[in-house]
Amino acid sequence: MADKSSTITIAIDDIPDNVVLYRYEDNDFIFVDINKNVQKTEHIARDELIGKKLTEAFPNVKEFGLFDILLKVYKDGKPRELDRRLYRDNRISGWRHNSVRKLASGDLVVFYKDVTNFKELEEEVNQLDKQTEQEREKVALLAQALEQTDDMVLIADANGIIEYVNDAVTLISGYTKEELIGNKTNIFKSGKHTKEFYEKLWKTILSGKNYQSVIINKTKNDKLYYADLKITPLFDENKKLKNFVATSMDITNRIEMQKKLQKLATIDSLTGIYNRYKIDDAINLQIARSKRYKEPFCLIMLDVDHFKKVNDTYGHDIGDKVLKALSRLISKHIRCTDIFGRWGGEEFAVILENTKKEEAIEIAEKLRKIVEAYSIENRYKITISLGVGEYKEGESREDLVKKVDKALYRAKENGRNQVSVT
Ligand code: GH3
Ligand code: MG
Ligand code: MG
Repeated sequence: MADKSSTITIAIDDIPDNVVLYRYEDNDFIFVDINKNVQKTEHIARDELIGKKLTEAFPNVKEFGLFDILLKVYKDGKPRELDRRLYRDNRISGWRHNSVRKLASGDLVVFYKDVTNFKELEEEVNQLDKQTEQEREKVALLAQALEQTDDMVLIADANGIIEYVNDAVTLISGYTKEELIGNKTNIFKSGKHTKEFYEKLWKTILSGKNYQSVIINKTKNDKLYYADLKITPLFDENKKLKNFVATSMDITNRIEMQKKLQKLATIDSLTGIYNRYKIDDAINLQIARSKRYKEPFCLIMLDVDHFKKVNDTYGHDIGDKVLKALSRLISKHIRCTDIFGRWGGEEFAVILENTKKEEAIEIAEKLRKIVEAYSIENRYKITISLGVGEYKEGESREDLVKKVDKALYRAKENGRNQVSVT
């Protein structure tokens, strides 16, 4: 018996795992043998354990499940595994893997080893798995948000090939996703922008900067729409351009509203006097009045002579100052019933209510002289050329403007700084 046990001892000492041999007896397990590794890990001498009952040597053995496993393996002979936590000071200090087998002799052998590192790794992998799951959920949520937003979202690769569009893009552009994906972004090109516009766009994003602008795009049915476009370039880990994300909003309504508002607005922003819309309106009104009351009215158009020279010599800002000063000067010297406005650029118009041609010529001449005599900021001198015309019954607004413009042109041709009459 002693010989047999020593043979086993040599064998189990060679096994790198911890090895314990048990024999079933009286509803308990008796320690038959332990190998050297067990003595080392448990800090216990072989003699202290051999012949002892498991439940006596380790009173808490039933709590951590090993006792049950031993019992089951003993009863049905099927090998079983058990991973159990090790505690120190009420905290998990590690993991131990147990493998329980029944030998032909009826004894049980338990191999066990510390798997703390492995368990930790496993835990990390599980954690990562959970994270990627959360990531995936997040991405799914984002994708859902992208799909449902009213903003258009488009993702293209570095060559401008469309990889993704959300529903808003298909809704506004009229293209299906299938028609867009794989196509180039210039499918939306409206032809309303210059080559330079697109060059600037590409130059900006290819250099890695965000691009933002209002762009006119075209739908599948050739309808134009305004989009408030923002393009963000995306780079990979090697800082290589990977994708563009373009978000945009259809602002056609807003732009149209703006245009309407602009029309409704009657003031020129630079000079603070009436703008062209107001001049048009005022002429229409005078035409209506003249039809009704048979009252005469006149139109003066005036244009700064050689204004380009002012800009070229002193700069555009001084040019602006001159235009403002000129507006103030003329405003001061017309009657309160006259309507004075900026026709565009450095061209102005005065509508003289209830005025005949002769009086209008006098007024025009007076304005010419005032401007000629004035030096803006005691420094800049300008002259103006003027065209004068009286409204004739049956003329349209355009007719009147055209003939007065012709007179103005003649004043220019004849040497400027003068009044010419239709
Ligand atoms: P002309 O005697 O034939 O009228 O000569 P001009 O130099 O005035 O010629 P033209 O009317 O063709 O040129 C007008 C110039 O006025 C050209 C444009 O740069 C300038 N201009 C138009 N609007 C503005 C403005 O709001 N501010 C400034 N600073 N310059 C303007
Ligand atoms: Mg001019
Ligand atoms: Mg001009």
